[in-house]
Amino acid sequence: MSTVLKGVYIDGTWREGQALLEVINPASEAVLAQVSVGDGLAVKQAVDAASAAFSGWSNSTGRDRAALLRRIAQGVSEQREQLMHLQSSNNGKPLFEAGIDVDDVIATFEYYAAVAEALDAGQDQPVVLPTEDFSARLRREPCGVVVLIVPWNFPMVTTAWKLAPALAAGCCVVLKPSEVTPLAELQLARIIAEAGVPAGVFNLVCGTGLDVGAPLAADRRVAKISFTGSNAVGVQVMQRAAETIKGVSLELGGKSSLLVMADADLDLAVELACGGGFFNAGQMCSATSRVLVADGLADKFLRRLQVRAQGIRVADPFADDVEMGALINRAQYERVLGHIQRGIESGARLLCGGERPVDLPNGFFIQPTVFTEVPLDSALWNEEIFGPVLCVRRFATESEAIALANDSDFGLVASVVSANTETAERVANALQAGTVWINAPQVIFPQTAWGGYKQSSIGRELGPWGLAAFQEIKHVIRAH
Ligand code: NAD
Repeated sequence: MSTVLKGVYIDGTWREGQALLEVINPASEAVLAQVSVGDGLAVKQAVDAASAAFSGWSNSTGRDRAALLRRIAQGVSEQREQLMHLQSSNNGKPLFEAGIDVDDVIATFEYYAAVAEALDAGQDQPVVLPTEDFSARLRREPCGVVVLIVPWNFPMVTTAWKLAPALAAGCCVVLKPSEVTPLAELQLARIIAEAGVPAGVFNLVCGTGLDVGAPLAADRRVAKISFTGSNAVGVQVMQRAAETIKGVSLELGGKSSLLVMADADLDLAVELACGGGFFNAGQMCSATSRVLVADGLADKFLRRLQVRAQGIRVADPFADDVEMGALINRAQYERVLGHIQRGIESGARLLCGGERPVDLPNGFFIQPTVFTEVPLDSALWNEEIFGPVLCVRRFATESEAIALANDSDFGLVASVVSANTETAERVANALQAGTVWINAPQVIFPQTAWGGYKQSSIGRELGPWGLAAFQEIKHVIRAH
């Protein structure tokens, strides 16, 4: 019998929920734990607690909030190994990838601690007016009780990107992790409690989208929802939020491109293509699943990409030399295999992969997969696959490459590989994407924004934009 964990933390206490959900290890399909999860009642109690705590927390100093964020960063750092372990066993990602996740969480809390500390001095800035009859000052105030809803692909990271700025701003929070991967967030919640968060300032309700996410989005006392997940659910969240005119920040899907220009270093291009396609088993909103290669390089590039992709060691997340782990669950595994099958039927050429690795009979593993000659009107080319599948097309000119990359409903990220800085910068400027990497892996800094164009996002996370998402602007104007 697996452990039963309490999945509801409200007003400073851990509580039993209303139902039990099983959490599995996607690499072995074994049950890791059962989590006692909440429903509409827990949602109501969590919003009650957050509303009651708001007056105190919103009037605390930035300096005090910074101290809490630093203690959380410290707690995460002290439990780095344990959190990595939880992340890999619940999500199926290799341990080294889980290490990158945990380090990102630490960096995010530390960054927003510094941001929170600077808030006190920046408050009540005088505004220059065209008359001496009046004076005005600018205040940035926390927007209220906020709801954070996150997915399963980067548990803890997507949470930290919302939670750290929300707490820094002075908001009270109700967090709903993915029902598929609550374990790392449960541990993070324990760390936050131990760090001394005041009761009601941080609340967590594990549960399904319908039982917990939907009532959270509907509660009229909630000022703002920050959601990361699929476009389909993003639409539902926005519709619910519209009924009470809540603010929404959405981080949704992507169909991003890696552009290999005619002068690119081929080895670098192959490494970046594999990183952009197969990191986290391709389950990344930022996957550069479209690879556009200059005609002159394409044959050589494809030969090297095929060899590299076939050599990637797909294995249990804890194996020593693992390069790619498991997909998240059976539904996702079948969805990705379905995309691959329809891709073949659409006329795209399967260069390698496309199946379960023969040495892994259990768990949700799929080989790194590469298609070429992918039809422009196919689902493979246009839809987010969220699995280890790359689609390669050739281009003749720079403008054709840019047009192909921009021809998407999404616009989250892009990567450019070129030996010529001028070419790379020019192409980067022309791409409709929130982040463009040049000759670089997908490094993300808390100082730079996260989010994209078109249907990928509403708003931006990280940096000062991530904080502004949880603030209201107030001007106080006085007659003299
Ligand atoms: P999902 O949309 O199914 O679920 C996301 C969260 O929403 C979960 O916590 C889920 O329980 C909750 N939810 C489901 N139905 C709801 C409802 N009706 N009301 C409120 N909440 C509800 O997404 P997923 O499958 O967990 O994650 C994969 C998706 O997330 C992909 O589309 C991916 O592109 C996207 N994603 C985007 C980013 C980004 O930064 N742009 C980052 C990670 C993942």
